[in-house]
Amino acid sequence: MCKVLIIGAGGVGTVVAHKVAANPVFSEIMLASRTKSKCDQIAAAIGGDRIQTAKVDADSVPELCELMRSFKPDIVINVALPYQDLTIMDACLECGVNYLDTANYEPLDEAHFEYSWQWAYRERFEKAGLTAILGCGFDPGVSAIFTAYAAKHHFDEIHYLDIVDCNAGNHGKAFATNFNPEINIREITQKGRYWENGDWVTTGSLEIHKTLNYPNIGPRESYLLYHEELESLVLNFPTIKRARFWMTFGQEYLTHLRVIQDIGMARIDPIMYNGQEIVPIQFLKAVLPDPKTLGENYHGETSIGCRIRGIKDGKEKTYYIYNNCDHAEAYKETGTQAVSYTTGVPAALGAAMFAKGLWVKPGVHNVEEFDPDPFLAELGPQGLPWVELHDVDLEL
Ligand code: NDP
Repeated sequence: MCKVLIIGAGGVGTVVAHKVAANPVFSEIMLASRTKSKCDQIAAAIGGDRIQTAKVDADSVPELCELMRSFKPDIVINVALPYQDLTIMDACLECGVNYLDTANYEPLDEAHFEYSWQWAYRERFEKAGLTAILGCGFDPGVSAIFTAYAAKHHFDEIHYLDIVDCNAGNHGKAFATNFNPEINIREITQKGRYWENGDWVTTGSLEIHKTLNYPNIGPRESYLLYHEELESLVLNFPTIKRARFWMTFGQEYLTHLRVIQDIGMARIDPIMYNGQEIVPIQFLKAVLPDPKTLGENYHGETSIGCRIRGIKDGKEKTYYIYNNCDHAEAYKETGTQAVSYTTGVPAALGAAMFAKGLWVKPGVHNVEEFDPDPFLAELGPQGLPWVELHDVDLEL
């Protein structure tokens, strides 16, 4: 039996709370966030008395410790923002609590994400006998678990890995992001980057693109982005010669994004406005639709997977493993759209893997370092069925 503390009551936190509440492996559940009323709303929507709620400022280690000392969780599921990763990890070390998240640390004042900050905690978690599971959403998350599964069962050596992420849904708004707008826009407007022959290759932002066909969806323009799981995957699977990440965007979305950048609304540095400091991208977040509210009229599917080429028994082999998730189905079950759903289901399942003793390994680990089999055996029944295709045209 496992006591779990969920931090963050956004779209992803909503799905995590639903899935954790439905799983008897969790004995007690606390949902805490900056705004307690949002936690109360989620708990009320789920019903019953499974979920306790609390207010916490996750930027403050003393506040986090006070909550952890009174509730005494076995594991924290961090689905607040990437800015809070390190304070939550500090509090976990101080209070002897295990840790899981879905996005790597980013400093508030620099749009830059890499694992070095969190990997620097490895020795401290190991010495404390605590497990930290990094990047357990869909991408990062299932994308890396799919890769680990392919390496374990279908390849002697993986040579080429392309993670492909398509959102073919339509929410009917002129412009909205599918998860936290600040984090999303910071990610997409960065330079592109991919791994090739032992080195990182940098490209202009969204410079490289290609039409790819997605199952049950069809052709979509897909853009090469840097994505955080590439960093750990090329280390954990050193036979990889090239690793890339692709995401689809529509023309309308890209036009809005260009205008947002051109007029300075994507800036992350503070400016003075009416005698008060504001950060333009944070102000933009306040006027854009809340991703949590997009679900109601969202139609269509997401399709995220790994296209892999490598060697098995001396022969070249291709393999495509993916999940399609329907926005309307996700909304019916949890009141959120598929992007929150595809992130929250793996986070809750990763914590269940820990609770069952299947993913317990003191230290700080990315998800591909754990056994993918029990996780993938449960992923379908938890709402995200996956499909494997062998020896197909990967288009890449
Ligand atoms: P939201 O912005 O909807 O939710 C974030 C929540 O965290 C809000 O409830 C917010 O509180 C709370 N929060 C923010 N700052 C603090 C703080 N200092 N203390 C306590 N609570 C705080 O984001 P999403 O739910 O869309 O995303 C959650 C996480 O999931 C993000 O880290 C995102 O990067 C990650 N993600 C990962 C994906 C993956 O596949 N791996 C895909 C999509 C998202 P308030 O409501 O008061 O603002």
